Amino acid sequence: MRITFYGGVGEIGGNKVLLECGGSRLFLDFGRNFRQEDSFFQYPFDPPLDVGDLIRTGILPDIPGLYSGGGAVDAVVVSHAHSDHYGHIPLLAEGTRVLMGETAWLIVRARLEAMARQTWADRVDHLDVETFRTGDELTVGAFRIVPIHVDHSVPGAYGLLVECEEGRRLVYTGDLRRHGEAARLTEDFVRAASDWDAHVGLVEGTRVAPEADPEAAAARLFEQMLALRLGDRIPKRVAKEAKREGDVLQELVAVADDHPENLLMVEAAWADIDRARTIWRASLETGRRLIVDEREAYLLHRMREDPGLRGLPEAGDLMVMVWRRRRSSGPASRRLAEALEEIEDAGGEVLDAESAAREVWSNPGGFIFLTGHPTRALKDLMASGRECRGRLTYVMSRSEPFTEEMVIGLDRLLNWLALYGVRSYYRIHVSGHAAPEELREIVEQIDPGAVIPMHTEHPDLFRLYVPREVRESLIMPSLGEPISLG
Ligand SMILES: [Zn+2]
Repeated sequence: MRITFYGGVGEIGGNKVLLECGGSRLFLDFGRNFRQEDSFFQYPFDPPLDVGDLIRTGILPDIPGLYSGGGAVDAVVVSHAHSDHYGHIPLLAEGTRVLMGETAWLIVRARLEAMARQTWADRVDHLDVETFRTGDELTVGAFRIVPIHVDHSVPGAYGLLVECEEGRRLVYTGDLRRHGEAARLTEDFVRAASDWDAHVGLVEGTRVAPEADPEAAAARLFEQMLALRLGDRIPKRVAKEAKREGDVLQELVAVADDHPENLLMVEAAWADIDRARTIWRASLETGRRLIVDEREAYLLHRMREDPGLRGLPEAGDLMVMVWRRRRSSGPASRRLAEALEEIEDAGGEVLDAESAAREVWSNPGGFIFLTGHPTRALKDLMASGRECRGRLTYVMSRSEPFTEEMVIGLDRLLNWLALYGVRSYYRIHVSGHAAPEELREIVEQIDPGAVIPMHTEHPDLFRLYVPREVRESLIMPSLGEPISLG
């Protein structure tokens, strides 16, 4: 078996791993890396115009037939529905076989359906998509693939066990954690992976870093820089300790109780369903009404189709704010409009931004606002002209920007918060990724013959976090350079 990394090396996300064996070729994930794209392009004014732009800048591998014509690979397996793992599948050639979990496919489609405008880089209808669940076994040419669910900050995430017909076996962790609501899923994966007797493990190391909390360290640095530039009016970050999802709930309730007169706005990553559920619970515990933006409403509505996801608000529980728009009024897309009608029919409330703002500012302490796009929400809520200064409490409940959904300029957000008179804001979050000590245990239990660190900015630091006997067998990947496994 030959393994070639075309992404996810020395970076968080952008995973693209080509496996070759017995004449068969298979990609594990085909994700985007937004930092790379941002270093050459700017959305929406100066985006890449075609695949060629992305190949010439080294962002996409130059593999004949992969993007048109076909025949370059037998399949692409997507581990989960975060853009840094699936985001480039729209660029694959017509008819490319793509395998992903059922829930992941639901989320991928929901994201596209809720978009106002789809570009050439946002289509998936041309792909030959097959979905799987845990317990399925997939055959792709000379490969046998066993997907096993893991817990991550998006539902429907999988780790993959891969065997090549010549007998070499590989374990791919995808992204995973052991401290989430559904930790038992990760345990199932670790057990199966340990029985797999893998020759090599491709292990994510998002949180392997010189600082205990690299995100917080980076954020602090960034805020110091902003404070220098913008002065004292920049709101200060108050980080609340949270180790498990349940802690997030407790802290949210505490913050809500500390600011009973204020609107509580909580920013969360769009597809972080566990967090949406937590925020819904916080609204129930505090007696505040949950209000969400149209895009969040669409996701929650579609996720109800998944019988595996429970504890989410019913359509009738939702109050939805439709964004203000310059030209057309109403929701972004036809699919979204239909979903909002269904929500209304079920007893939910769908309001234009003006009416939503009127409701909110008439009794701000009565609401929790869940959004993945806070600057837009803050802009719309202020446009009503009602008094909003000093009436907002803000909670950032997401990681630092790794994926498009999360990339929102922190400086812009802080400027908006300052306009609202916010002096300090809260950060309450638990990561979707295993902490280094969890990682050590996972590697110990899976016990692969060799470990290849990926999805980390510090592959070199893996030696500090893997058991002694594994340290000898660390393989540092290089972009585009094949690693041969026997
Ligand atoms: Zn990832």
